[in-house]
Amino acid sequence: MITLKEVRKSFKQNGEHIPILHIEQWQVKRGERIAFLGPSGSGKSTLLHLLSGVMQPDSGEIWIEDQPIHRLSESQRDQYRAKSVGYIFQEFHLISSLTLKQNVELIMQPSMSNKEAAEVSAQWFERVGLTTQQHRLPSQVSRGQQQRAAMIRALIGKPSLVLADEPTGSLDYETAASMMSLLLQICEEEGLTLLTVTHDVHLAASYPRQVHIEDLNAIRRGVTA
Ligand code: ADP
Ligand code: MG
Repeated sequence: MITLKEVRKSFKQNGEHIPILHIEQWQVKRGERIAFLGPSGSGKSTLLHLLSGVMQPDSGEIWIEDQPIHRLSESQRDQYRAKSVGYIFQEFHLISSLTLKQNVELIMQPSMSNKEAAEVSAQWFERVGLTTQQHRLPSQVSRGQQQRAAMIRALIGKPSLVLADEPTGSLDYETAASMMSLLLQICEEEGLTLLTVTHDVHLAASYPRQVHIEDLNAIRRGVTA
């Protein structure tokens, strides 16, 4: 369960504090898959950054399961993120000098033997249909294939929270739709909580739940300044 209470975030612009987010109360159940919609600049990425612990709220509480993220130190938040959060970006952020397989295995548990890691990663490459491309560099595969490798990297550690920020924003529609359906399917099978920001209402409609930032953010509703 994710719980947000009276979370506020503002940014300083030209010496002035501009309020961006005010979430009075929001809960997400474990295993929910939510598409998150809203206009550009409305605070969607900021919310994901708060949930991943990259940013801290000005005030309020953010609970992920039994962890009070708002109270953790920076290094505790780094640990939380490494263990519990899988992040998928619009621009895949793969390391260009490493093969897809090396990109994935780089982040795998040091506690696993090399053999075990190789078996687990082979299963994932098969699962997303990338077995024949796994030894290629990112520049040697399509954008859709790069995003599938990035998806493995985010999901392979079975994070309790998967955050995807416009993951299909740089893919053509057909590739985007197939990537999104694979992401939804895997998160459902693994029972992972998935929060995906997307501009695309058709892709959002494939999620069991849609949330509009205007409904969540008191500032967007004009309730608070
Ligand atoms: P969205 O993802 O919905 O497009 P963002 O969360 O990226 O919106 O940004 C919301 C608002 O906060 C924008 O007006 C943006 O300019 C501002 N903002 C975001 N991050 C920062 C930052 N690090 N410093 C200052 N302003 C920021
Ligand atoms: Mg954004």
